[in-house]
Amino acid sequence: MSEDYRSMWESLGLDLTAHDALLGVLGTFYRDIYLTRKNRPEGMGYFDFVMSEVHGLRIKELLEEKVAGRKIIGSYCVFVPEEIVLAANATLVGLCSGADFAVEEVEKVLPRNTCALIKSSFGFKLGKVCPYLEAADMIVGENTCDGKKKAYESLDALVSNLYVMDIPQVKSEKGRELLKAEFWRFKEAAEALTGVTIDTERLKQGIRTVNAKRRALHRLTALRAADPAPISGLDALLASQVSFYDNPQRFTDAVNKVCDELEKRIAEKEGVFAPNTPRVVVSGCPMAVPSWKIPWIIETSGAVIVGEESCVGERGIRNLTDDAGQSVEALMEAIVDRYFKIDCAIFTPNPDRLAHIEEMVRAYKADGVIHYGLLFCQPYLMESIPVAKALEDKGIPILRIDSDYSMEDVGQLKTRIEAFVEMLR
Ligand code: SF4
Ligand code: SF4
Repeated sequence: MSEDYRSMWESLGLDLTAHDALLGVLGTFYRDIYLTRKNRPEGMGYFDFVMSEVHGLRIKELLEEKVAGRKIIGSYCVFVPEEIVLAANATLVGLCSGADFAVEEVEKVLPRNTCALIKSSFGFKLGKVCPYLEAADMIVGENTCDGKKKAYESLDALVSNLYVMDIPQVKSEKGRELLKAEFWRFKEAAEALTGVTIDTERLKQGIRTVNAKRRALHRLTALRAADPAPISGLDALLASQVSFYDNPQRFTDAVNKVCDELEKRIAEKEGVFAPNTPRVVVSGCPMAVPSWKIPWIIETSGAVIVGEESCVGERGIRNLTDDAGQSVEALMEAIVDRYFKIDCAIFTPNPDRLAHIEEMVRAYKADGVIHYGLLFCQPYLMESIPVAKALEDKGIPILRIDSDYSMEDVGQLKTRIEAFVEMLR
């Protein structure tokens, strides 16, 4: 890393020793999981580059944007509408983290039995190792699960720029009204932060930029229906993860380039795994960078992942926002419509998610589903039981695994996943 970056990190208040240690661990993990794999699409080189510069060049770009007057908004959830952020001349970045850090410090402010995702986000703050968090002008916390809701009360004491957004828990008319009121309130907060008034043209352009990104990812997901699979689940997950950090236009171009390559692979019947390799859909909790443990175990146990029913996957990108409206009011309605369809397990009841898992199994010709629940994540762990029953009743094999970010359970998970894959053959 250049000295430039070190002074940049220092200016953001990072703990350079802790940050060096984090980058060292991440770099080794990334090399072992990704860089040693064969037969990856050439276009994935772009994503390898982004990952190698995720705390370097990308942060430099964001800081340059700030100097030019743009604001950075950080988020922990796909309910935060990027369309509004872009329309307000701000950049949205994801803040969820997928690695344990500063656990001892975290457990002084959060109970031990908090899900790994929340603990990790706090660890990155308390350990002073996240340049995105430190660069953000506004951090949006959303009232989704109970863990996050209460954690934001504690986070408020650690940061000076937390904005809390309420999120409905029921898909009723009243629930939609709440989301609409909260999106309007967020629009006003984003305008106050940036000093930009969101007009019809700005909002339309924001919608178009985000739709283009989602369209590219839809194209990528559709190509994974091919047998042999033209891309691994690990690589597809990486693209989804990068979407939370990268410049949206550049990201869209990079994904489309990979898709061009995959189309050629499919035409030539070339795949990353042999034809008829058991195919699985992974469903459940989001996998933030560098949470690659589960897909890595699956794809080194004889199966290929052909879809992710997750917020770092289809739950986060399905459905476009209608850009036909000719007023801010009409476009805001379209944004509310699009986000109200997100089938997070915080909703009760949540039948759409089950329907979506079944639809994905059909569309990607999956042989089974692996349900991934983070330990102590009540919404997804609770929901995994009826989801498993419903899939089993329809003859769709499912394996439920509960895990966290540690590597202690790798051996045990591998044994269970290998047995499941063997059963799918
Ligand atoms: S799982 Fe729910 S709370 Fe988590 S990012 Fe997705 S929508 Fe947000
Ligand atoms: S993984 Fe579960 S408990 Fe953790 S933040 Fe997401 S919904 Fe909440």
